[in-house]
Amino acid sequence: MGRHDGGVNHSETRRTKIVATVGPASWDPAVLEQMIIAGVDVFRLNFSHGDAESHLRVIKDIRAISERIEMEVGILGDLPGPKLRVGDYPQGVVDIVHGATVTITPEDVDGTPTLIPVDWPELCDALKVDDTVYLADGSIRLRVTANDGSKVEAEVEVGGPLSSHKGMNLPGVESGLDSVSEDDLRWVEFVVANHLDYIAVSFVRKADDLDPVLEKLKELGSEIPIIAKIEKPQAADAVEEIVDRATGGIMVARGDLGIEVPLSKVPVLQKSLIRAAGEYSKPVITATQMLASMVTAKRPTRAEVTDVATAIYDGTDAIMLSEETAVGEYPVEAVKVMDQIARGTETDLPYWDWVLNRVPQDEMDVSDSVTQSAVIAAYRLNLQAIVVPTASGRTAKVVAAHRPQVPVLAVTHSVRTQRQLKLVFGVRPVVNDQTKEIRNLLYECADDAVRFGAAASGDLIAIVAGLSDMKLGTNLFEVHRVP
Ligand code: ATP
Ligand code: MG
Ligand code: MG
Repeated sequence: MGRHDGGVNHSETRRTKIVATVGPASWDPAVLEQMIIAGVDVFRLNFSHGDAESHLRVIKDIRAISERIEMEVGILGDLPGPKLRVGDYPQGVVDIVHGATVTITPEDVDGTPTLIPVDWPELCDALKVDDTVYLADGSIRLRVTANDGSKVEAEVEVGGPLSSHKGMNLPGVESGLDSVSEDDLRWVEFVVANHLDYIAVSFVRKADDLDPVLEKLKELGSEIPIIAKIEKPQAADAVEEIVDRATGGIMVARGDLGIEVPLSKVPVLQKSLIRAAGEYSKPVITATQMLASMVTAKRPTRAEVTDVATAIYDGTDAIMLSEETAVGEYPVEAVKVMDQIARGTETDLPYWDWVLNRVPQDEMDVSDSVTQSAVIAAYRLNLQAIVVPTASGRTAKVVAAHRPQVPVLAVTHSVRTQRQLKLVFGVRPVVNDQTKEIRNLLYECADDAVRFGAAASGDLIAIVAGLSDMKLGTNLFEVHRVP
């Protein structure tokens, strides 16, 4: 079956979604195309790297490719946030050598293996002798040995490769940077102007940190969902409020999280953050180092494969690739590997436990109750699909929060909703721009199920919807035999 007649293509039968960061290793249109075909659902643009012009080119290329091959993808714009970063390394990657003495300077100079520029005027006020400095997601560790007020000297305790704009972390030291800067707000404008599908906000500490972005979006008349990146210990403590306020969900940003909290806490936090997202029926992305060895190797390690699977067992919506696809040697293979791991894991998930327990039972919540009933019925009655007509995507997300094994076909008239639902576990979003009349809704949903290959004549399906005039959220569930 070709894609033109709405047949199910390969990537649409996987439930877990794949997010891939675009960078120099993947921004060639031919590579982007192969990555979409290999199964990318959402591309991430990291505004900490590259200028507006290069990101714009990538956006145009992605949209053009997906239109040509008729495979929609979402695009997520990731705001830099208050992250300290090293300056330029024009010669590319340098080796910071174990045991060496290096100088960290606030001056705007080119980096070398022993001179590390950091664009942060307070550098010398903040660092004291004996402080620990981490670079490049914690892979390099320095110990401060001297500070003369204009530059800092440090010994390399753990060496490693360093290149332009890699992050610097000083656990416990307050950088004094605004949680959302003027620069971040300019990127919000960029995201809105170019119709991206999600905005990620970095280094959120508390729910209020999302306000400047939410206000900016309101000012621009945009409803782009925002994703709070959880990578600070304070955020892990305030996660309920943050999840509640983050319109698009959360990201378990393990790179910085693993420096800001003891490493041994990362798996525990990963589980509790994913659980919190489930309780609020919001999407969650698990990110960083999932297939790190694939930056330079064609095959992942067993440990990485197990890590990806574990995130899926924990109930993540999406698994993310960072360096693997931004600067790695095997961007397309990394996507293929994630696709295979996800499919393998999905044969063994605790679906029945999830539908009973993943979303807490609030007795008065109509949407939760109706959608849970639909998923339970789907198992009991062996339904082929759950068809969800949806404008905003909300009903599809509430159904997906129960983590159905049965495919959820979300039918929307809006390509934006379609792209946003690309992030949500188990949901296959499709566009049908004919407006449905309430009277004929059920029959038209059954037609869509056939049209998009989710069910055939004679099959039983569920239809789940929210009739807006009732103001009850998701209030309709019908078991329907496809005529
Ligand atoms: P963050 O904390 O936002 O994740 P990061 O520096 O860890 O920032 P990632 O996107 O996780 O960035 O990893 C991608 C790596 O690819 C970067 O560290 C950077 O070295 C490299 N890179 C270079 N150019 C780009 C680009 N235009 N977009 C994304 N990554 C880039
Ligand atoms: Mg990162
Ligand atoms: Mg980060």
